[in-house]
Amino acid sequence: MIIDGKMISQSLKDAMKIEVDALAEQYGRRPCLMVIIVGDNPASRSYVRGKIKATEYCGFDGHLVELPEDVSEATLLAEIDKLNNDPLVDGILVQLPLPKHISEDKVIAAISAEKDVDGFHPENVARLWLNQHCILPCTPKGIIELLDQAGVEMAGKKAVVIGRSNIVGKPVAKLLLDRNATVTIAHSRTKDLAAVCREADILVAAVGRAKMVTAEYVKPGAAVIDVGINRTEDGKLVGDVDYEAVLPVAGAITPVPGGVGPMTITMLMRNTIECFLNRMNNK
Ligand code: NDP
Repeated sequence: MIIDGKMISQSLKDAMKIEVDALAEQYGRRPCLMVIIVGDNPASRSYVRGKIKATEYCGFDGHLVELPEDVSEATLLAEIDKLNNDPLVDGILVQLPLPKHISEDKVIAAISAEKDVDGFHPENVARLWLNQHCILPCTPKGIIELLDQAGVEMAGKKAVVIGRSNIVGKPVAKLLLDRNATVTIAHSRTKDLAAVCREADILVAAVGRAKMVTAEYVKPGAAVIDVGINRTEDGKLVGDVDYEAVLPVAGAITPVPGGVGPMTITMLMRNTIECFLNRMNNK
């Protein structure tokens, strides 16, 4: 079974569009997401375009704040502070990576935790690991949603996550654990990675190496979630999974493009609605 992230994502956005119209009626305004981009990195520009398009599609307020590559850290922090204090702004996202002269840690921590739609703020990260109410990071949240929509049972299953980054690997592992999977986190020092992965009923690859997960990594019938985004030499977008080789072995698989990627943006929209509702109901 191919898990069609694009289609699932579209139906979730259609439902949110209707929900947002109802929220506007009920609360007298729409959820508002502000996206900040620094500089002209083409990949960042492309991601931001997708986020703004989804924002418009779902009927949110908000817009893009564009700052030059050489903007000072102080100016960026002041811009974030302004948005933190704006009662009409529900979500703030600063597109990463940032230029080297700006501390990403400082910027992430500067965004008010209640408006942190990316779920990267240390307070939200800590709350996730403490099982407290928090804003979940978008990609991990989208992966769990994909597994749910595909009817993949997580409880009691063995899951292997390849990758231990703070934004994907570790939070995905935590969310799978919360769904009662038994989770192994693999990484660059894992010995005999293929054998470790072959144990998995659910295999999540979040590495950033084109086609490294071959058929020998996959237990027959396993659900394979490909988070990787890589470009081949001829510019083609591919994941971490050798899709053609793994497709006949896997029970379910996400394609790249059209799998996890669209879900990440859709969960960003979901988080914006959640931030809006938290703020409106806490007033
Ligand atoms: P990082 O570079 O932060 O982490 C990569 C992880 O892969 C590290 O934990 C690293 O191990 C591990 N790794 C590297 N080489 C190997 C190897 N040979 N064998 C086993 N493990 C290895 O990447 P991110 O987590 O930020 O992103 C991972 C991928 O997901 C990227 O392609 C990125 O573009 C994509 N991505 C996609 C998103 C989407 O929406 N679809 C969103 C975010 C990311 P170690 O810790 O030991 O170094």
